[in-house]
Amino acid sequence: MNVEQIMQSLAAKHPGENEYLQAVQEVLESIEEVYNQHPEFEKAKIVERMVEPDRIFTFRVTWVDDNGEVQSNLGYRVQFNGAIGPYKGGLRFHPAVNLSMLKFLGFEQTFKNALTTLPMGGGKGGADFNPVGKSDAEIMRFCQAFMLELWQHLGPDTDVPAGDVGVGGREIGYMYGMYKKLAREYNTGVLTGKGMTWGGSILRPEATGFGALYFTEHLLATAGTDIKGKTVALSGFGNVAWGAATKATELGAKVVAISGPDGVCEIPDGITKEMIDYMLEMRASNRNKVEDMATKFPAAAKFTAGKKAWSVKCDIALPCAFQNELNGDDAKELIANGTKYCCEVSNMGCTPEAIHTFQTNGVIFAPGKAVNAGGVATSGLEMTQNAAHLSWAPAEVDAKLHFIMESIHEACVKFGKKEDGTIDYVKGANIAGFMKVAQAMLEQGII
Ligand code: GLU
Repeated sequence: MNVEQIMQSLAAKHPGENEYLQAVQEVLESIEEVYNQHPEFEKAKIVERMVEPDRIFTFRVTWVDDNGEVQSNLGYRVQFNGAIGPYKGGLRFHPAVNLSMLKFLGFEQTFKNALTTLPMGGGKGGADFNPVGKSDAEIMRFCQAFMLELWQHLGPDTDVPAGDVGVGGREIGYMYGMYKKLAREYNTGVLTGKGMTWGGSILRPEATGFGALYFTEHLLATAGTDIKGKTVALSGFGNVAWGAATKATELGAKVVAISGPDGVCEIPDGITKEMIDYMLEMRASNRNKVEDMATKFPAAAKFTAGKKAWSVKCDIALPCAFQNELNGDDAKELIANGTKYCCEVSNMGCTPEAIHTFQTNGVIFAPGKAVNAGGVATSGLEMTQNAAHLSWAPAEVDAKLHFIMESIHEACVKFGKKEDGTIDYVKGANIAGFMKVAQAMLEQGII
């Protein structure tokens, strides 16, 4: 494999799809050496096939807002790779959604899902719909209009979407209601992240954040330390950041900063249970302002406009919001302030410069596809419960999530251990995920 050549031909075919090209380049660079030891992969053109989605659906979503005006958005579903199971991955509603973003997310999802130990292929979808400032009724009408187009491509053994940025339990509810009405099928396994009374798995809402902290615990243990007393800065206040803040606090760490698009809230004494609960209200308000935390808890939280969480001194940085939210300068600022660990909870939350800066300055960095895989893994557990028409108790789901995160960490160590004994988690995660998908593609012939 010649990475440069493949990247050149991809860039020519998909000009301007920067996030997608960035995600592919990162994976190809890490797997190059292993790939070249397997002539059978080269012969079957595994990489050339793997970097292109199996298929993409694009559709118009038309709906009526509260003023009676007709609105139109673009909807997508990228079925990226079905080699190891039905397409699985979230739906993102965000004004910046485009094909490049969803292809990068679908590509990442393929490897992430492979790491979970469960049989799930990779997919991703969404729309350029902006939930900020929308009423509940508008959100419902949009979700229904979106599902009106998408439902035919879904099925519990075909393609199973879930939430992502801008899509949580409420949106999944509206979409599932519409799916049933159209399909006349009552199989709960067609979406995950459902409510507890209609087929949802206990712990699914918490799973991404909880799993990320279980992974962080293993990473710290491997580095000879633990999480107790460590300070944590995290970005975002959505579902993922909420789960991460909850578990970090429960494990004895101190969350000293949360941030939003408007700025950062410093919380010197650490976030409290009340404040964590308030994060949920902030997300549901659709205001998208972290300042609300400081307004509600003025004695505990100090808001600074225009600053990121990475400006606050911390031991562990946890990007939990959006791709490329932590850049090279942010990494330098963190390092200057003594940060030793960065576990990427968002998908591709760090730019290549940030990762390089971390790795060359002794900061242990772990990539999103390993750290945040607990979310989709618990979606996989939700599918299993749905298929068996039963539901497991919290302890059972939590034990399985623990086991999966430990397995992912072990896979990263196995494939990412360097000669000096340190772990390259980027390489480890990419090689482990790639080997599984590549093997499956090889065994299934040229299709
Ligand atoms: N959107 C989440 C992710 O990036 C979860 C996907 C799912 O549960 O299918 O992995």
